[in-house]
Amino acid sequence: MATALTQLTTRKPAWLKVPAPGGPNYLALKHLMRDLQLHTVCEEAHCPNIGECWEHKAATFMILGDVCTLNCAYCAVAHGTPAPLDRHEPVRLAQAVERMGLKHVVITSVDRDDLPNGGAEIFAAAIAEIRRRLPATSVEVLIPDFKGSERTLRLVVAAKPDILNHNLETIERLYRLARPGGRYARALELLRRAKAMDPAMLTKSGIICGLGEEWDELLGAMRDVRAQGADILTLGQYLRPSGQHLPIARYYTPAEFAELRRLGREMGYRHVEAGPLVRSSYHAWEQVERATAAG
Ligand code: SF4
Repeated sequence: MATALTQLTTRKPAWLKVPAPGGPNYLALKHLMRDLQLHTVCEEAHCPNIGECWEHKAATFMILGDVCTLNCAYCAVAHGTPAPLDRHEPVRLAQAVERMGLKHVVITSVDRDDLPNGGAEIFAAAIAEIRRRLPATSVEVLIPDFKGSERTLRLVVAAKPDILNHNLETIERLYRLARPGGRYARALELLRRAKAMDPAMLTKSGIICGLGEEWDELLGAMRDVRAQGADILTLGQYLRPSGQHLPIARYYTPAEFAELRRLGREMGYRHVEAGPLVRSSYHAWEQVERATAAG
């Protein structure tokens, strides 16, 4: 397996081809997002699943603007100086969730290291507003590392999301190259602290495959995340957003993803979502059901 990992390839395999989006729900959602001036990671990150997810009325909302203070080498989201904080965003977001009739909602954000609390109170306000309007809807947050601040993390955990996700993104060796603004140990510490703060809350993380990691390094990172008590893990293929981003070191086959899923379950994860097109929020509504059932 490790030898195959070093193989470099540029041709997109057939299993990564997806139909172009354009169904009625997709178009309606696109209209709704513009109407309420909301951003989604589905659009900003050029997610290949947008046609499928939006047709199933599943979207990942991106709060705190659409400009990130980090500049990760694999990410398509714009970086630079963000706009001022919009305190009305949680209400508009909850309105969208209500109009879409979502049973599960995923909220993420750009990194806002320019703000004292990294925007944590907006996450908390969004969770509270959704709970107020739609008590039966489960809420998943995919949060930044808040520069390692335990106090800031507590603001989000105290709002009681059903799932708290923080992506490890890559193995330790590749952090400097791929994620220079992040820290491997800090990401693990966040997952450990979140579980300690609320053991009943599901915690989740994800790793991008194909940035240059070796098979054993990938398994090592999966074990590191599991050692922090994480319940859910997502593993998906890295797709280069543009020629300015890191090249794809290799494509994993569907059989390799199946093997990673098996190994992850063996490590003790309640649920592992692994596949070429898997993203943190891919089939998230099913992930919560499966992880809860496995508990
Ligand atoms: S996988 Fe996540 S980011 Fe991609 S379209 Fe689906 S909900 Fe959006």
